Amino acid sequence: MFKTVTIPESLRPHDARFGSGPSKIRPEQIRALAEGGATLLGTSHRQDPVKHLVASIREGLSDFFSLPSGYEIVLGNGGASAFWDLACASLIARRAAFGSYGSFSAKFAQSASSAPFLDDPVIFEAEPGSYRIPERTEHVDAYCWAQNETSTGVAAPARRVEGSLEQKALVLVDATSGAGALPVDVSQCDAYYFSPQKAFGSDGGLWVAALSPAAIDRAYSLAGEAERDGSTRWVPPFLSLRSAIENSRKDQTLNTPAIATLIMLAEQVRWLNANGGLAWSTARCARSANLLYQWAQASEYATPFVNDPQARSHAVVTIDLDGAIDAKQVIAVLRDNGILDTAGYRKLGRNQLRIGVFPSVEPDDVEALIRCIDYVVERL
Ligand SMILES: *Cc1c(COP(=O)(O)O)cnc(C)c1O
Repeated sequence: MFKTVTIPESLRPHDARFGSGPSKIRPEQIRALAEGGATLLGTSHRQDPVKHLVASIREGLSDFFSLPSGYEIVLGNGGASAFWDLACASLIARRAAFGSYGSFSAKFAQSASSAPFLDDPVIFEAEPGSYRIPERTEHVDAYCWAQNETSTGVAAPARRVEGSLEQKALVLVDATSGAGALPVDVSQCDAYYFSPQKAFGSDGGLWVAALSPAAIDRAYSLAGEAERDGSTRWVPPFLSLRSAIENSRKDQTLNTPAIATLIMLAEQVRWLNANGGLAWSTARCARSANLLYQWAQASEYATPFVNDPQARSHAVVTIDLDGAIDAKQVIAVLRDNGILDTAGYRKLGRNQLRIGVFPSVEPDDVEALIRCIDYVVERL
């Protein structure tokens, strides 16, 4: 058993959800469910009201990301994990190269190495806490990495690999926890994909991707290849990007989506755009993240886990604690006080706090969280 500490109400954050995904859902999003939802929930996704909702998400995200001409917002069921398998079936022609530097980036590489119709991937590995972007490699047709490695709090650039355009290789960026929180020039990616339960503060279960014309062409050509006699490629219908593109163009999904997730996502996109779009949200996340990094650097018992200041994420902040302080105990006491989901990634196994500072999180609440951590550590 451990000692607990009661944090005075006046010190606590107004909203104390700091998860790295699922993350805080704003009260306005929940209100949108109760209000807009009354006419949408429990109705057909093949009818106009839900199609209009999907259209508002697609248009809103096109504005938010200043989508280059020819790019399309495509969505489907299954989340970013499903998109990895979909990319193996529908975007990687023969061989991909991966940056692998944490749990999520490693999982996509694993999917590609187990696909029987793909050649073994080339993997560029880095220690957790740093990142490595795949380098130009012969006979590679897709370069893949994560913009924000959620398991370690590392942010990597999302830009074309030198020479990849000449090679006609695609750049597939896992932006699950980066999209909406970190700056991006989508023209540097062929697929910039994410799930809505991180910076878009919605529920899980959906994937969304901004696709370039080259990615769309690739999806059509691989779907055609799979249909040819004797092809070893398998594109299961659920993992067909061609069919996701065709459904998305009609503001639908291949199979039944969670309408609640769509409603909350639409409200978040509306809110982000109304406040100033990507520039506003990335500045807000940077402010929250820097409060934590500056505090940790000045603190006697806390240090940013990521050494390179340029690679410190503005979406998910990881802070190591001095060995004399048990992070598990701090996290448990915070939870006893209603301050939720500050634990490090379990498999990383460090004495660490991990704090999601997505756009929905108020920077003032981050300041309050810092006061609460200090309050708890002084009293343990
Ligand atoms: C959360 C996360 C995923 C997995 O998302 P799901 O919606 O659970 O499939 C993939 N990549 C990154 C970088 C993530 O943060």
